[in-house]
Amino acid sequence: MMSISPPSGSFLKCYVCVSNEGRIWKEVIQCCTKNANELEKNLQNLQNALEKSHVGAKVICRGCNMQRYCSVSHLIQDRPEHQPLCQVLRDLQKVRKIDHPLLLHGKISNRTKLQFVISQLKLILWVKLGRPLTPREHQLIGDPAVCDVCFSTEALVDCDGCAGVAFCSAEHRQLVSDYHSSKDCQTLALIATPFRQLDVLVNIQHFFQSCPIKESHLIDAFRNATSIQVSNTPWTDLESYQLFATCSSFSGIASLCLALTQISWVNDPDKAVIVYIVGATQETLIYFQDMHLNFLFLQFPNIHHLELHFMGKTLGQMGEIGLAFNERTVLKHFYPLSFSQFSCVCNVDPTLILILQPDFIGTGNITQDLVNLVQKNDPPDFDWQDCLLSIIRTFGVPICYTSISRLKAMSDFTAINEIARENNIDVKRAYNITDNPYREILPLHNPDPLDLERIVYGNNYLEVVLTSIKH
Ligand SMILES: [Zn+2]
Ligand SMILES: [Zn+2]
Ligand SMILES: [Zn+2]
Ligand SMILES: [Zn+2]
Repeated sequence: MMSISPPSGSFLKCYVCVSNEGRIWKEVIQCCTKNANELEKNLQNLQNALEKSHVGAKVICRGCNMQRYCSVSHLIQDRPEHQPLCQVLRDLQKVRKIDHPLLLHGKISNRTKLQFVISQLKLILWVKLGRPLTPREHQLIGDPAVCDVCFSTEALVDCDGCAGVAFCSAEHRQLVSDYHSSKDCQTLALIATPFRQLDVLVNIQHFFQSCPIKESHLIDAFRNATSIQVSNTPWTDLESYQLFATCSSFSGIASLCLALTQISWVNDPDKAVIVYIVGATQETLIYFQDMHLNFLFLQFPNIHHLELHFMGKTLGQMGEIGLAFNERTVLKHFYPLSFSQFSCVCNVDPTLILILQPDFIGTGNITQDLVNLVQKNDPPDFDWQDCLLSIIRTFGVPICYTSISRLKAMSDFTAINEIARENNIDVKRAYNITDNPYREILPLHNPDPLDLERIVYGNNYLEVVLTSIKH
């Protein structure tokens, strides 16, 4: 396949250009799967389009002073979509007599203050718009274009390598390059690549070797299993990126494998291993495709029957699918229910409960709660509270959960402990919160503005607990 360096999407790029690029890449991929002959031609078109769009985004919206464009025509084209947020920020600057929304509380002097202003702006926008922010609005406010050294918003240039950090002057460029290691640069390049907008997993058919799950990590286990070595620079071409993202998608199943090594379960081939995946969403299902199940069977040849019960209110229809893998069977059940609803109607007897990135304490809802308070609405009816009690009442069943950051991992554990204490339940940790060697390898900006861990990964931390009645 012809190799094209993708452009990097970033806070200093034209929004319209970056989203156009994403669209073009999508077309290339669709054509990739349909007609291989067309591919070379499409890639050539893409290269031409990208060259045209590689102009610096010199036009800054005069309403909000934040959104950037390559040209006035792209500014006009984006007007309808950008207008509502822009108007709120314009009014805010007028009332506060400031010339940039980030100056809401005066000049920004450190990262904590920056994070504070960001969360205030998000709150203001949420209240005034009367709706949650869209992903692009989140990104504009949450990852604003500022000098990484002095937090100035003026005359910015970004790092050539990653387009993920910016600086205001040659002097500050030098300061940034002193601490912006090549590893950081690569991480930010991987966050900024427009490949991230694509849904590009490769369907792997052949599996080879298992590995000692307890001592290994995602990239090694994936290489043993598939004979594929992922690239160190996956943002440089589409094929490398696809394999990298595919490897990352094994994080869910490999975390489950690791959890299974931490517990004692009856190793009887006739008995089904039953896993409840609680709080499941459509994104959770991506972790459990056929190739992922093949990976699990490779690591655990003694498992002959696997039952996966997906529970989540947004799962749509109730249903089940039976699959056969050589001499093995998999039953997938889908329940559009919360765990507490499920446990009222069904007999609960799993081998393991798996919860991928819950938010028991609702830190993600703090802003939403504040908004509701201001608007005097009812609190959001998300009910981990109820659910959590039903979950920890499954005495003796290992409960395994992952968290995106250490802060989240600790607050989730606190939530479990609180509810356990109130209900006279004992919590034993089978596997302490620890860096998960099977976390995803695609980095993310931490969506929590109050958490100082800036870069996080899916399934970053893993914890396994066992509960029992307190005597
Ligand atoms: Zn543009
Ligand atoms: Zn604007
Ligand atoms: Zn500066
Ligand atoms: Zn860089």
